[in-house]
Parts: sequence; C-alpha cells; structure tokens
Amino acid sequence: MDFDFTEEQQMLKATVRNYLEKEIAPQVNEHEKKGALTKAEAVGFIKQLLPFGFLSGFLPEKYGGSQLEAKTNGILVEELSRVWGSLAGTLFISAGFLWVLNEAGSPEQRERLLPLGASGEYIGCLAITEPNAGSDVSSLETVATLKGNHYLLNGTKTWISNGSIADAAFVLATTDKSLGALGMAFFLVEKNKSHFTARELHKLGMRSFPTSELSFDDCKVPKENALDPGAGYKRTMAFFDISRAMVGTMCSGIAQASIDASIKYAQERNQFGRPIGSFQMIQEMLVDMITETEAGRLLAFRALDLLDKGQKCRWQSSLAKAFATEAAVRTTSKAIQIHGAMGLSDEFAVERYFRDARTMTIPDGTTQMQKLIVGRDILGIRGIVWP
Ligand SMILES: Cc1cc2nc3c(=O)[nH]c(=O)nc-3n(C[C@H](O)[C@H](O)[C@H](O)COP(=O)(O)OP(=O)(O)OC[C@H]3O[C@@H](n4cnc5c(N)ncnc54)[C@H](O)[C@@H]3O)c2cc1C
Repeated sequence: MDFDFTEEQQMLKATVRNYLEKEIAPQVNEHEKKGALTKAEAVGFIKQLLPFGFLSGFLPEKYGGSQLEAKTNGILVEELSRVWGSLAGTLFISAGFLWVLNEAGSPEQRERLLPLGASGEYIGCLAITEPNAGSDVSSLETVATLKGNHYLLNGTKTWISNGSIADAAFVLATTDKSLGALGMAFFLVEKNKSHFTARELHKLGMRSFPTSELSFDDCKVPKENALDPGAGYKRTMAFFDISRAMVGTMCSGIAQASIDASIKYAQERNQFGRPIGSFQMIQEMLVDMITETEAGRLLAFRALDLLDKGQKCRWQSSLAKAFATEAAVRTTSKAIQIHGAMGLSDEFAVERYFRDARTMTIPDGTTQMQKLIVGRDILGIRGIVWP
C-alpha cells in the first residue's frame, strides 16, 4: 500500500495551506458570526480559490475544469475545512451540482452551464431531503406532473445546502409514486426560468454555509430538464459515494485544526508552574485526538483512492463518513477540554470546530444510515426494513 501523496500533491497542500491561513483565515470569525454567506460573498471567495483547482477540480478540462484526481480534490477540501468548514461545504455542494450535470445533463445543458459553473459565478445545490423524507429518501413526496412540454413541480425540500444562494437546483422528485425509487428523476430547476422560494434555516454549526427550505408551488420546468428519468435515486446514491468520502476529508480538516490549536495552547498555557502540555493526561488527550484523526483521514483517502481507480467504494465511503465525523466530534470536544473555560469562548476557534464537527454527523446520511450501508454490504443482508 502506498500512503504517500505525490510530490505535486504535497506541494499543492502546502501552497494552499499557506494561502488559506494568510488570506482566508482572518475573515472567518466575522462571517461565522454574521451567518449564511450571501451569493456575492460566496462567489467572491470561490473566485479567489479557483486557481488552486477548488470547484473546477471536479470538472473536465473541455468545460473549463481542471479534472483533478479524487484524492487531490480531497486534499483541497481537507485544507479548506481546516480553515473554514462552511466555505468548504458551499464549494463542495456547488461542485456536486456540476458533477451531476456533467454526468446526466444533455449536451446543450452541459455546454451552456458547465463553463459558467467552472467560472465560479454559478452556484448549484442538490435538493433531496424533505420534511417527511430524511433518511428514507425513497419515500419522498415532491411530485412532478407532465403537462404538455413542461413539468409542474410541487413539494417542499428542507436543509438544502446553498439553497438560498443557488442559481439552480437539482430537485429529486417522483413522476410515478407507484414505482417507488424507480419513479424518480432529477429535475434541473434554473432560478431565472422557474420560480421557487427559499427560506434560510439557522443551525448549530457551519453557520456561514447556507441551509435552506425550498418551496415548489406549480414550479414550471421544461420537459427536457428531467434528467435520469427512473434513475434519479440511483444517481443520488452514486453522488453519495463521492460526497461521503469528501465529508470524511472535511472532518479530518476540522479535527486537524482543533489539534493544531490544542498543541499550541498546551505549550503556552501554564498551570502549577509549568506548561499544561507537560501533564500526562493532556498528552493522552492529544494522542487520542491524533490517532482518531489519522484513522479517519486514512479511511477517507482510501475511499477516494478506490474512486480514482474506478472501483466501487460504497461501503468504504460510508465507513469513512461514519468514523471521521464521529471521531471529529470526540476530537474537537477534547480540544475544548484542553482549552479549559477558554475553549467555550468564541474568542478561540475551538468552540466553532466542535459545533462544525457536530453538524456533519447528519448530512449525506446520518452515522446510523452509514453503518446500515456497511452492514448490508459486508453481510449481504439489509438492516433496513421498509414497510
Ligand atoms: C448541514 C446540513 C446540510 C444538509 N445538506 C443537504 C443538502 O444539500 N441536500 C439535501 O437534500 N439534504 C441535506 N441535508 C439533510 C440531510 O441529508 C438529512 O438531515 C439526513 O439525511 C437525515 O434526515 P433527517 O434529518 O430527516 O433525520 P431522520 O431521517 O428523521 O432521522 C432521525 C434519527 O433516526 C435515525 N434513523 C432513521 N432511520 C433509521 C434506521 N432505519 N435505523 C436506525 N436509525 C435510523 C437517524 O440516524 C437519526 O438519528 C443537510 C443536513 C444538514 C444538517
């Protein structure tokens, strides 16, 4: 097994880290206190980061992308998350939208929208979850009814990342409820052509990462914008194979930030006449934090490596997501402990790292759902029983 990044990847990691610490880190606190990024703010940051391959790394060169390996994209996502989880989320979700468009869009849709997406000016989102359909995606209620040359979309999507700032959404909806998951399609809903409303939702962590409720009320969508008829559910699951491993890298980045802060604090803070880092119980906490973060990172990059090799990675990606997110919660919690009362203050970033890590055990499927996927794949027996 080769655990090393290439020389190019190592250089990219170091260059990006340096840039993010200098140019982005000083702005994070102010934005996180303010809440969800506006479209203009998100575009400004995305454009700043495009030259490194952020966002465009998921796209083919012919559309203005830089078509990086999944592992290289993982390095970028981890480094950005180490500085600002929310921005990493916004970038990754928009990249996910472009990935679906590239995989399932018509030639006309790809030619028209992918270069716009690669320019960083066009933000996308993926609308799957509904008030009554969270873990059980197959029970979604949003319907698409064909009327001549267009569909009418009716339903509500909730907790949609980038929803309030998106120029377009892929909306998973059913055209035939009797077919269950096989009756679903992804509908490309372009905001300048089809009307839907967005309401921003406040949450514990990742506060600059917009999460919104989207309402579709007879939303008119051209017939040709129904992508993947009958296979929308399958496409969603294929996207999750990538996104779950990426969430693993995100949480490795957030956990790493809390480790770096804790090492510094343990060296600088004195009690009983010496640095708290000299106490064995503080050292033990740091070692546990490093062990779990390294393990989560290895699982995530292992899944991305399988993707790069064109191999299946469903359970490996779920395992990475389940372990790395939960490990990041434990790690960032220990970081607060090492900082004592200061760990609870928003003068230090560790309380944000904890809130951000805690937030990530839910999206892209909860920890429990990931474990059920791993269990199903290794046993060949479904742990989920549908009614
Ligand atoms: C920050 C954030 C970003 C998000 N972004 C998006 C997005 O961009 N697009 C999108 O479509 N959605 C998004 N979501 C929604 C997310 O995907 C859902 O919240 C998630 O799938 C869980 O659904 P739920 O919240 O309805 O929980 P529920 O499904 O109601 O689950 C509640 C609890 O029951 C458990 N549970 C459910 N079923 C089982 C079972 N069979 N066995 C054992 N336990 C079970 C769950 O693990 C959980 O603990 C986002 C959520 C968050 C927090």
